[in-house]
Amino acid sequence: MRREASVLHLDLDAFFAAVEQRDKPSLRGRPVVVGGVGGRGVVATASYEARVFGVRSAMSTREARARCPHAAFLSGRFHAYRTASRQVMAVLRDLSPLVEPLSLDEAFVDLAAADLPDLGVETVTAVARDLRAAVQEATGGLTATVGVATSKFMAKIASDLDKPDGLTVVAPGTEQDLLRPMPVAVIPGVGPATAERLRASGFRTVADLEQASEAEVVRLLGKAHGHGLHRLAHGLDDRPVVAEREAKSISVEDTYAEDVTDRTTMEGLLTRQAATVARRLAKARQSGRTVTIKVRLHDFTTSSRSQTLDAPTDHPQVIARTARALLGEVDTTGGVRLLGVGVSGLADWIQESLFGDEHDEEEPLTELPLAETSRRPAWAPGADVVHSEHGPGWVWGSGRGVVTVRFETAETGPGPVRSFAVDDPALVLLDPGRHEESDDSPADNPSP
Ligand SMILES: [Mg+2]
Repeated sequence: MRREASVLHLDLDAFFAAVEQRDKPSLRGRPVVVGGVGGRGVVATASYEARVFGVRSAMSTREARARCPHAAFLSGRFHAYRTASRQVMAVLRDLSPLVEPLSLDEAFVDLAAADLPDLGVETVTAVARDLRAAVQEATGGLTATVGVATSKFMAKIASDLDKPDGLTVVAPGTEQDLLRPMPVAVIPGVGPATAERLRASGFRTVADLEQASEAEVVRLLGKAHGHGLHRLAHGLDDRPVVAEREAKSISVEDTYAEDVTDRTTMEGLLTRQAATVARRLAKARQSGRTVTIKVRLHDFTTSSRSQTLDAPTDHPQVIARTARALLGEVDTTGGVRLLGVGVSGLADWIQESLFGDEHDEEEPLTELPLAETSRRPAWAPGADVVHSEHGPGWVWGSGRGVVTVRFETAETGPGPVRSFAVDDPALVLLDPGRHEESDDSPADNPSP
């Protein structure tokens, strides 16, 4: 805990849904649900208009449709979310060199590392207000809620107090007054199971925990967990803001315009990605021990699997073989929309012939075409399209050989709706997410 309120936490409001409303004027002010639109889909983000009807993240799309049948259900455009996220992180880094992103739409900023005249409440409040305006400007209108406090824990609690589009600065010395009446579940690490256990022993609020002795909490929850929790209940949190380290892994990921359902095709795609990763490792004169794959299923759930090898590698066959084996651990029967391969645990030297014998027989790098095995319609609701005559728009719906498009963009007003045959050559599905390359961990899982 610091003496001054110099830890800032920024959280974009209903991020995926807000990006959709920005780019689709007809959806502004209306319930929007982004997530898996298929039978087993899950809600990633609901706009505030949809939350009024009880739609929440991680709820099944089936239930969301029952609660809010008139919402727009969109399958999401990660390229747009990633672009907006980069814009926001750039604004934060303009303010301070110490920025710690937690996900695409959330980050801590260390104001003590910023160039400010002082860290008094008045100053940091003004800084936070300007920051929110700068984020809105840089992203074309996205709003964020900001909390500023003396620790990460308090800053995160503060940013949750005034959502959406709000700002809370917790003045130094007032932390406990704020915390005490809150339920124990506000403390990080207190999930539903721990909360239930605490409740059963009579601890409902942070104040209850604060009054307990450390020994009592440790007896209840074990040493590691109990100790940390007891400290947080007293507002004690000295975790520093840690800037993201650069290029701790090298990875490649691709989003596919159509779900890939054929296993052999998936393996071929992973093999090709492994070759790209190996090439980039070699170029950077690096090698790594841990191979990770990232798989996003048709219903938006994302998983990653890793295997750490005995020794560092930059060899395409070793990476490919490991990646294909890891794919065996993921149930992909419903099809995948994204695959990625990464290598981490980098050592900046190249290990020659660690697997010498195995490399003598080079496996050919399979060049498989994308099989036409789409299960989900390629015209995903919400996807960007362009028509040679009507211009840019988005898929409003499709079925029975017809695709319906609303022609509008962030810059236009609400636009007209028109329908076309799915094989109309004038209508083209855009997918800027294809062949996206990134240097961040393939395990990053956007969680708005
Ligand atoms: Mg958010």
